Amino acid sequence: MQNDQYLEQYEFSCTRCKYVWRETFEVREVEDSQGGSWHYFYLAGSPASSPSMRNICPSCQQPNAQHRQIDRRRISTPNSP
Ligand SMILES: [Zn+2]
Repeated sequence: MQNDQYLEQYEFSCTRCKYVWRETFEVREVEDSQGGSWHYFYLAGSPASSPSMRNICPSCQQPNAQHRQIDRRRISTPNSP
């Protein structure tokens, strides 16, 4: 069983009003006993929906946002080698 953590930074842009913003997610990648892989997203320590679900623009409140990943780095965990 493996449990990896990453910091992933995404840039969102609204196709309607051209507003652009960034959010940094903490992502926990967990492999289950069936070999499946699950991703859990957190924002500031709280569970959050995945970037692909966050398509509401904070400026115009319309679901027109697109996202792209701009950074991903692994967080070392205490029980890593
Ligand atoms: Zn907008």
